[in-house]
Amino acid sequence: MPWIAILVGLLAGLAVWSILDHIQSFQVDKIFRQELQVQLDLRARESLIRFDRYLSGYSALTQLLANHRRLSDYLETAVITDEPRRYINSPPPWLPNLLMRTALELPSQILLTNLSGKVQEIFQTNSTPAPTEIAHQVAAYLLNQHDSRAIIERIANHFYLITSATIEHLNGHHLGYLVMLVPIDDLFLAASQHGLNVERAAVALVDVIDRRLIASVDATALPPGSQLEDWDATYVITTQSLDEYAGQNSHPLFATFVPHSAVEKMSRHVRIFERRQRFIAALVFVIVFTAVIYLVSARLNKVLKRMTRFSQRALGIAEPGFDRDGNQLLLLEDWIRHFTQLVLIAREEMNRKHQAAMRESEALKAAMMEASLDAIVTLDRDGQVIEFNRAAERLFSVTRQEALNASFAERFLPSVARAAFKRLLDRSRHLHRQPQERCELLALLPDNVERPVEISIALIGLDDERFYTLYIHDISSRKQAEQEIKSLARFASESPNPIMRVTAEGLIVYANNASRPLLLAWQAVDYDAHLPEEWREVVILALGAGQPLEREFEVAGQLYSLLFAPIRDLGYVNLYARDITAVRRAEQESRQHQAELVHVCRLSTLGEVATGMAHELNQPLSAIVNYANGCTRRLQGGSGQVEELVGAMNQITAQAQRASEIIRRLRALVGKQPPSRSLVDLNQLVREVRTFLEFDTNRLGIDIDLDLLVVNTIPVRVDLVQIEQVLLNLVSNALDALEERHEEQRQLCIRTGMRDGLAWVVVEDTGFGIAPERLGELFNPFVTTKDTGMGMGLAISQTIIDNHEGKIWAESELGRGAAFYVTLPLAIIKPATTELSDSDTCE
Ligand code: ADP
Repeated sequence: MPWIAILVGLLAGLAVWSILDHIQSFQVDKIFRQELQVQLDLRARESLIRFDRYLSGYSALTQLLANHRRLSDYLETAVITDEPRRYINSPPPWLPNLLMRTALELPSQILLTNLSGKVQEIFQTNSTPAPTEIAHQVAAYLLNQHDSRAIIERIANHFYLITSATIEHLNGHHLGYLVMLVPIDDLFLAASQHGLNVERAAVALVDVIDRRLIASVDATALPPGSQLEDWDATYVITTQSLDEYAGQNSHPLFATFVPHSAVEKMSRHVRIFERRQRFIAALVFVIVFTAVIYLVSARLNKVLKRMTRFSQRALGIAEPGFDRDGNQLLLLEDWIRHFTQLVLIAREEMNRKHQAAMRESEALKAAMMEASLDAIVTLDRDGQVIEFNRAAERLFSVTRQEALNASFAERFLPSVARAAFKRLLDRSRHLHRQPQERCELLALLPDNVERPVEISIALIGLDDERFYTLYIHDISSRKQAEQEIKSLARFASESPNPIMRVTAEGLIVYANNASRPLLLAWQAVDYDAHLPEEWREVVILALGAGQPLEREFEVAGQLYSLLFAPIRDLGYVNLYARDITAVRRAEQESRQHQAELVHVCRLSTLGEVATGMAHELNQPLSAIVNYANGCTRRLQGGSGQVEELVGAMNQITAQAQRASEIIRRLRALVGKQPPSRSLVDLNQLVREVRTFLEFDTNRLGIDIDLDLLVVNTIPVRVDLVQIEQVLLNLVSNALDALEERHEEQRQLCIRTGMRDGLAWVVVEDTGFGIAPERLGELFNPFVTTKDTGMGMGLAISQTIIDNHEGKIWAESELGRGAAFYVTLPLAIIKPATTELSDSDTCE
């Protein structure tokens, strides 16, 4: 394709060249001829000027000679004769010498005349005799001479230049004339055109009357006497009149001759030169033109290929089929038409889609506006409402129709807010489409109700139009909430308990008035005070654990509970302090009372078991008495063998120990100990209780079954006496319940176990059980079914178990028995701890 383009370019260039060359050559020729004519005219004028200047030289010379003293002197004294006096070759006495020194051609005759023009004397510079008509002609010339002009005159078929000057006496009167005659011939003409290149141009004088040459600068080429028209074929002739030199018998013309051959040669040179230049220019033009065509064509080709590829991919149009037969351009044109149609269809399709998308977007925008919880109002450049959404209707309690075209500031803002609103409008102009930060204003609702709102304005510029979109957010509820938060915030400062907020670094960022005693104790009353180091560690611990930590702190006899509540998100810890001095005292007293109550309870239990124990004690004591009596008798009778006596003594020792053991247990049961917690094995505790109640169980013929967890220990950190009392109560109640049963139906079992960090113990009996409706009230004080009962056992037991963070409850099936459950938190034993094994409470 590009090569075809180059060929086309070249051919087009050549065709244009051939046409333009013809026209151009013609035009150049025309211009050349016009220019040549101008040049010839110029040259002719130059020649004429030169000729004219040459003739003026003679007038000047004549005047110079006439002014010479010698002439006037001569004429003054000269004798007038009838016939003129002639001087041939020898100069006359009146002629000054300066004539011979002139560069001009010598005149042929110099005449002296009197005032009437009669020739007195003739000086002839050569031997050729002067024509006879000369005197007559000169007289006629002088007669017609009104000024001292030179003329060219025909005298006896010869042409002369005649110049004259008046000869004056010193006193000013005229004496005569000096007349000079110069023959006009080839030499004269050649001398007048000094420096003229006759090969390039020649000049000649032509007589107007017979149009023959009078004289020429080149007599060989242009012989005088030849007809002017004869030279038309050879020369380009320019003639100029010489009217100012015309005489009575002559009207000469000044003719300039330029050979045609020279003109032609110059014309050819010019044409060739011009054509060469033109050709070079045309060649450059063709090359550039072809290159441009080539580039354009190549570019076009590339674009077409791209279009083809694009159309194949995007529109599925087949390739134009340049390889088919036929005119490629027509094929291309066809394909482009097809392509254009498909593009138009595609564009229409796109338009449709775009419009659908626009409609969808508009609908979406309208839906968004309607769904917006914020009021959205659009104003025109004058601040009049042109759009008003649902939320705005709700906020201002007016319909959209009522709001449209109203001035927003006047209708919906109180007068105090209008200036601020105007400033907002002005500011929005500098923010373009960016919504500015929200600004609080008061909005005016019907019935002159004012409501705080936040307004943000976005400016939208469309062409020359300007719109403002107002986003209005009702902040009355927020304001109210803020008020409430502020009043809530006052809680802390008004609290009678110390409240502080500290950072992770221990910096106290807030402390209420009640905190002063603590701050004074910590020497932290300054603005940027920190907590003491020990409390800072607690702060870090609380933040790390994410759980509130409670510590106690005593200052000036007051005991405070400090609760470190971490707020991990903010990196703060809130410190709530509470004066617990009174609480602790009450707790202490309560514990005291409880211990006393437990002791009373225990004494009551003791009352029950004391009889049994006394009876039990009786047996070893009776045995000791019997063995001692036996020994005494044997020793008194002398019959006692040593072995027999030793055996009896051992029995006495054993029985005494048994009695001692019974007494120890009684003391242990009665002994009043201050409340204290220690690590105890629950299994061991159960065994202990069984031992305490052995008398009762023996009396009733019951053997307490122990179903204890088979582990080393069930560790619980408890007040031994109190938990022992709980178990004594439960087992005593079970024994009471079993008393009414036949002996063979009496069963009592104590189980222990561990589960989910808890230790548990169950006392089960097969007694008469408890009615379901009574189960709930068993643990209330003074609830009893026994004649001698106080109804305090279970109530005290519940208080004790609650104090140990445990639980106690009963389950029963009426008539079949009852089970009492107790759970207690398992104690965590450090491996190195030997506390439990050291305890002397568990035997
Ligand atoms: P008291 O033994 O002085 O009556 P408690 O508080 O120890 O006081 O017991 C309250 C009541 O609960 C008893 O009077 C009895 O009716 C009932 N009770 C307790 N234990 C049992 C039991 N194992 N079987 C049936 N009833 C029981």
